[in-house]
Amino acid sequence: MSFPPKPDHSASNYPMTGPLAESRPELQRLYPAERPLVPLRWYGKMMELLSPERVECVLCSKSFYLRPHQPATGPSGLPTAWGKGVCSRCSDSIPWIRRIQCHVCGRPNYCGDCCRRSGSSFVRSRSAVQYTLEMRQLLARYKYRGEERLLPWLAAMLQPAYAKLSEELLIGDGLFSIKKNAAPAFDLITSVPVSEQRLLERGFNQAERLAASLAVRIGLPARPLLTRQEERGKMSAKTRKERLETAIGLFTSAPETPEILSIIARRSPVQRRSLRLLLVDDIYTTGGTLDSCAFALQMAAPVPIDIYGLTWARA
Ligand SMILES: [Zn+2]
Ligand SMILES: [Zn+2]
Repeated sequence: MSFPPKPDHSASNYPMTGPLAESRPELQRLYPAERPLVPLRWYGKMMELLSPERVECVLCSKSFYLRPHQPATGPSGLPTAWGKGVCSRCSDSIPWIRRIQCHVCGRPNYCGDCCRRSGSSFVRSRSAVQYTLEMRQLLARYKYRGEERLLPWLAAMLQPAYAKLSEELLIGDGLFSIKKNAAPAFDLITSVPVSEQRLLERGFNQAERLAASLAVRIGLPARPLLTRQEERGKMSAKTRKERLETAIGLFTSAPETPEILSIIARRSPVQRRSLRLLLVDDIYTTGGTLDSCAFALQMAAPVPIDIYGLTWARA
């Protein structure tokens, strides 16, 4: 059993510039103790414009100039903070899914999977990016190599796909407003669980963390509602048929799930529709995992529910 490496907090690992450097007494003297006078503040603003701040890109670690009012590159729906941490080169090279062809699974090209499937327990699913080699490497940095600082950026990447799915649903409800959404399109966010064994190995469930981070950004409650049996071999080593067979019966609802769903249903501001759940995962491959999770939730739900998927990548 191996645990992810613990971050090294020794002083030598931190750069000597930036906010952390301010705690060093010899550098503190360089900063003025009081707020500068008004003309000096204007001078500071002017200097900021003339020599913009250099920051390190969280994805490629190269430094780039942070210009005030710099338009964020990437699909609409990305938070404004995106451009302050990710350089435009990285942002432009991300294979965002901007147009979809399959309205069920959100695939950007022809989808045989959804044509073959007779029915799903989830209504539809959307993904943020295509699962290319670069995206696989990026996710692996977070999942296996302990780069936990990537989490808010990976969660931010979910926001454009979330915003689009939300908009689709609110338009369908007749509740979409250009100015401000009248009500959120979903009632609760949940995530695909990992087994106890994986949790011990990795120390966290990436899907649960993505769901929690997204939930805070959009102001919705997030709750784990499912449990997963022990892993039956690595999913990535299986064929499509094997994956679908493995996913059947792999998930069960947590004991408190029916009660949570009843409470959320009673509190829902939109009483005239079914309870809407957003199920978050990192990768959508065959849809088997999402379908199996959605089935377990449907079985446990004491009220009518509609389940939608949102994944970080679409394989
Ligand atoms: Zn970059
Ligand atoms: Zn599809």
